[in-house]
Amino acid sequence: MDITFSAEELAFRDQVRAFLSENWTDNLATRIRGDNQEFKAAQIEWQNKLNDQGWLAPGWPVEHGGADWSVTENFIFETERSLAGAPDVVPFGLKMVAPVIYGFGSEEQKKRFLPRILKNEDWWCQGYSEPGAGSDLAALKTKAELDGDDYIVNGAKVWTTYAQYSDWIFCLVRTDSSGKRQDGITFLLIDMKSPGITVNKISSIDDHHSLNEVVFDNVRVPVANRIGEQDKGWTYAKALLAHERTSIAAVADSKRRLRDLRKLLAQEVSGGRPLSEDTQFQNRLSNTEIELMALEYTELRVLASTADGKGPGVESSLLKIKGTEIQQAIQQMYMDLAGYYSGVIHGEENAETIGHAFGHDARKAYMYGRAATIYGGSNEVQKNITAKYVLGL
Ligand SMILES: Cc1cc2nc3c(=O)[nH]c(=O)nc-3n(C[C@H](O)[C@H](O)[C@H](O)COP(=O)(O)OP(=O)(O)OC[C@H]3O[C@@H](n4cnc5c(N)ncnc54)[C@H](O)[C@@H]3O)c2cc1C
Repeated sequence: MDITFSAEELAFRDQVRAFLSENWTDNLATRIRGDNQEFKAAQIEWQNKLNDQGWLAPGWPVEHGGADWSVTENFIFETERSLAGAPDVVPFGLKMVAPVIYGFGSEEQKKRFLPRILKNEDWWCQGYSEPGAGSDLAALKTKAELDGDDYIVNGAKVWTTYAQYSDWIFCLVRTDSSGKRQDGITFLLIDMKSPGITVNKISSIDDHHSLNEVVFDNVRVPVANRIGEQDKGWTYAKALLAHERTSIAAVADSKRRLRDLRKLLAQEVSGGRPLSEDTQFQNRLSNTEIELMALEYTELRVLASTADGKGPGVESSLLKIKGTEIQQAIQQMYMDLAGYYSGVIHGEENAETIGHAFGHDARKAYMYGRAATIYGGSNEVQKNITAKYVLGL
């Protein structure tokens, strides 16, 4: 594996750095951390900048607006973006449903939906999970029955991220219960303004409203909004999950967080000495850095084999397990550094900061971070996959 960049790749890296320093501003960074509509407006502004540059959906086919990047160029962009502290795009439209639409959708569906996703005109959410159908997704029960040119949908989806902002939801629904569970599932695109849809907020421990329950009560969905064939939705759903697990290791994000943590440790003083001289913190930091370096090389090996035309396969499970464990170890160190101040809850937006400025953010990141080992396929399930396909158990 050759891990040096070519002259063209280094030139591309400089171009990405110049773009980020001009366009990823402090103002955007502050607003994107905000709540509700402020977050959405700032995220759209950021994604529009990427679209103007032609970098919003690099993985899409070129004819639909993709950038035709090599695996290495994609790696360079993701690394530089993370090191600059800029967020990933909201994935549900751009990285999840779009590949299903251009991979399996009709020409009308491609023309109707893809340009609006690229221009950030439609926000999407993902309606897979249900009460009783998470890891065991094929247990889903939300039902769609044909009635003329429409399906009538009844049931409920849960943990639906950003449903409160979304114009559309892509859903797995049950159209047949007679045979194998995976065989009776259909993939529908549903307008969130359809009569009969209710979005209920789910409060989470990080104070940020991202999660919802979406209830369908006799919702009419045109058959024209079905992807591919009826009862074949499982095939399209699986293709989408492969996209969901890409870049989940978040190596560059963890590198940035460790870099910033080092600075804070040098500033914070305990017993007259900076915490960076505390041997316990030094040990924890070094161990996490070693793990992260090992993960980075594993990721580079996976990328090298992807560049050779082999799919990421089971390695994506290993990247997910290790990447999320490292993220949580870093979040724990921020919490320990903030000490008591990580427990301060700011009642109002823009309230005066009490104690360490980073305490509030440390707590939010730690709290939301608990979810990283659950979503995108829980780590226990990834361990099962690894045991079966890597260890042959
Ligand atoms: C923050 C967050 C955002 C989410 N956003 C979305 C979204 O936008 N859209 C969407 O559709 N879903 C979303 N999800 C749902 C997510 O996909 C599910 O939470 C996940 O698939 C796990 O399902 P579950 O919660 O039903 O847990 P369960 O599947 O009930 O699992 C409970 C526990 O049992 C373990 N377990 C389950 N099966 C096995 C097994 N075979 N072997 C060993 N252990 C097992 C799990 O690892 C877990 O610890 C989100 C979840 C979170 C936390």
